[in-house]
Amino acid sequence: MIELKEVSKWYGDVQVLNNCTTSIKKGEVVVVCGPSGSGKSTLIKAINALEPFQKGQIFVDGQAVHDPKTDLPKLRSRVGMVFQNFELFPHLSVTENLTLAQVKVLGRKADEAKTHGLKYLDRVGLMAHKDKFPGQLSGGQQQRVAIARALSMDPIAMLFDEPTSALDPEMVGEVLDCMMGLALEGMTMMVVTHEMGFAKKVGSRVIFMDVGGRILEDCSKDEFFSHPENRQARTKDFLNKIL
Ligand code: ATP
Ligand code: MG
Repeated sequence: MIELKEVSKWYGDVQVLNNCTTSIKKGEVVVVCGPSGSGKSTLIKAINALEPFQKGQIFVDGQAVHDPKTDLPKLRSRVGMVFQNFELFPHLSVTENLTLAQVKVLGRKADEAKTHGLKYLDRVGLMAHKDKFPGQLSGGQQQRVAIARALSMDPIAMLFDEPTSALDPEMVGEVLDCMMGLALEGMTMMVVTHEMGFAKKVGSRVIFMDVGGRILEDCSKDEFFSHPENRQARTKDFLNKIL
């Protein structure tokens, strides 16, 4: 479904992705962790063509992200992305947030987009808030709207970049529950998070990135958690700090 082959990226002389190779199969939930600055956000954004890269190849459902001929807005519309800071449009109501891209990018009729968007809003438990503005919602609610908005585009996969790290602790659970539901329904997901409980419950694989943008470990969830003795020293250090 998603394939990265020897992807490298530099900012000037600084290498931020170093020969990253991995793939995500349909239905897999891949958790990406690693220290700050190791390139997790850069990697996940590269998949959605939000970050250009100088070397290597990325394929999403067979489409080459690195190919200048690829229709990037169309490709982006097929991969849902949820960021740390929600990034809802503050001047639009929840319903308008849900429908805008469906109408503009997918060409859906307003009515159809609304019905579709509200179906997902209901699924994240926020139907009662459909006419509010983002500023009137809690962080956890805003993030669930962001998830519903991404799902309204009928993505083939979802990318999450630290979706709970900007939330007050009491709101982390509701967002993780929502994501776990998606994972259990078989959504293909790549999730940058340090919520190891999420990884243990619904992860298929865990990728550990180290400074310099290198994928240091890429293994099954069971291998990652059940055999700590096999982990690299850098991974052990990191896990000791966050667990
Ligand atoms: P965090 O856990 O803090 O979110 P991260 O693993 O997501 O970190 P990235 O945001 O992907 O890391 O950044 C990787 C590296 O790229 C960092 O060293 C960062 O300083 C550098 N970087 C990111 N954006 C730019 C930029 N626009 N110009 C120069 N360097 C950048
Ligand atoms: Mg980041």
